[in-house]
Amino acid sequence: MDLVLDASPLAAIGRPFRAARIGSEGKWIGKLTGLVTESRFPPTTIGQNIIEGHLESRYIELGGTIFRAARVTSVVEDDEGVNVGIERYVYVRPPAKAPSLPEALTRCSSTFLRAKYAVGCDGKNSKVRECLNLGYDGHEYPQTFFLADVEVEESDLEPGGWDSHGLNAVLQSNGTFVLFVRLQGKVFRTYYCAKDIQPESCTEEFLRSQWETLVPEGFPTKITRFETPQVFRVSCRIVTSYSSTGGRVFLAGDAAHCHSPAGGQGMNTGLQDAANLGWKLSAAIRNGANESGVKALLATYEKERRPIAEWVLSTSDALFSSTTKPISPFMGALRNCLIKTVLFLAPERFLPPAIVRNKMFGTSISYNTAGTCIDSGAKPPYGALLAGDRLPDYEYCTSDSDQPKGLQVIIGPLSDDYTLVVVGDPKLGVKAATAISGIPNFSKYIYLICGTNTPPSPENSSGEEQVVRLIPSTIPDQRLKCSDSLTARLRLGKKESAILLVRPDMYLAMVHRGVFDDAVLVNSIKAVTLV
Ligand SMILES: Cc1cc2nc3c(=O)[nH]c(=O)nc-3n(C[C@H](O)[C@H](O)[C@H](O)COP(=O)(O)OP(=O)(O)OC[C@H]3O[C@@H](n4cnc5c(N)ncnc54)[C@H](O)[C@@H]3O)c2cc1C
Repeated sequence: MDLVLDASPLAAIGRPFRAARIGSEGKWIGKLTGLVTESRFPPTTIGQNIIEGHLESRYIELGGTIFRAARVTSVVEDDEGVNVGIERYVYVRPPAKAPSLPEALTRCSSTFLRAKYAVGCDGKNSKVRECLNLGYDGHEYPQTFFLADVEVEESDLEPGGWDSHGLNAVLQSNGTFVLFVRLQGKVFRTYYCAKDIQPESCTEEFLRSQWETLVPEGFPTKITRFETPQVFRVSCRIVTSYSSTGGRVFLAGDAAHCHSPAGGQGMNTGLQDAANLGWKLSAAIRNGANESGVKALLATYEKERRPIAEWVLSTSDALFSSTTKPISPFMGALRNCLIKTVLFLAPERFLPPAIVRNKMFGTSISYNTAGTCIDSGAKPPYGALLAGDRLPDYEYCTSDSDQPKGLQVIIGPLSDDYTLVVVGDPKLGVKAATAISGIPNFSKYIYLICGTNTPPSPENSSGEEQVVRLIPSTIPDQRLKCSDSLTARLRLGKKESAILLVRPDMYLAMVHRGVFDDAVLVNSIKAVTLV
């Protein structure tokens, strides 16, 4: 999100998600506390509609147009572009105002839009995917979800502990579960999931009666707003190819993969798809003449994103299936005993393990094994930051301001360019600036990170590029809750250096460790940037 808009207002609307509790068979059996993530933002719960509202406003602010009253009916690609057939499909009874239409659709009921590339982000039942004749492999779940957003009176929250737990889950041995996620303000998103329930049962009365029966001490009764409950079926599916045969149409979000809400990763995975594909499409349009480079760059979208979607599908499937599998009351009691013991013994912040937690929160997703990023120079030590990893957002100060800022904020969001970050020897920064001078698609700023005690070095190279020195913040980062630094994450020794090539989506295209020869560095950069 932070790549395209200032996410701070969103974080302020949502609720920091610090604790969760699990209940079963009428009792709360344990809780998870101290949930943290390696990000400037704490784990936050917030309604998807609010995220979508902010993204929509930003898209319009940047010059985009959204046509709500038209739908895609066909997609046909050729060597130069894509024809997307669209038709008008809503009728709005006066005096309500009709959503805007493409100009051509005000004169007729269907038309074509022409573009160099198209992305089908039209959800689970994607028309674009259907037009590309692609399979959507996987399975349906037999369970049905009833979902309702409710707003609860403030005074009714504290007594039952509803104020202090972002997530409250109740698992029954018969496979039924209820989930209450506290979103912004006093709003809870509630889920009721069971097998063999009829959609007609999806009413406020039914949900209230189930909550009374299943939730330990019941759910707060002073409900000030109860939105009409909705019925959902969920599936676990992934598309057979993320793009068309001609490479001009792509699929993203639920159109490419869908899974159960267990782990709450559906929207997040779709947003990551967009962050991965967006800058590549922009580079493809800017560098259209380099056909083979463009093709190779766009092919990295599936190479990088498919393994992530497969991981999300398998983890959410395992979590959902184990939670909803009916077991005998005896096995249920045994399971509860195990959950209780593990949650009781695990130290704070230990569960879920950092390796799973950071991947679920998206901060440790890596494209290192996708074959699209390069580690060069000296062999990286075990556990060091690698090419394909996300640039950690540690805080630094610039020479003109001692106000620390996250590295990703300093590099700047919404950029189409690659950026070099040199860590270690200041002389290497100037040498790298001179070496890359003239390579297209590069930010003119090269960031140099060296210790606070390193003597000042010339800040500018002779070329267009400017070397900007970043000084590690001496204030421990309150939000990251760590005093780590890029030097430590790279596992660099005292006199060692590294050069990081940062992509517009803040992932590392290249990590070069140690000294370099100018020509070799330039060739590595050209090999990995592709266009
Ligand atoms: C019960 C449930 C709970 C969930 N909980 C969470 C959660 O806690 N956290 C989370 O991250 N995710 C959650 N998800 C998943 C999340 O809602 C989806 O992953 C996310 O909405 C996918 O976004 P999308 O843009 O890919 O598709 P969608 O949100 O489905 O959007 C598709 C868009 O395409 C439009 N469209 C469809 N067909 C056409 C056409 N022919 N022409 C033009 N436009 C078209 C639709 O109108 C819609 O606007 C949950 C899902 C379910 C079912």
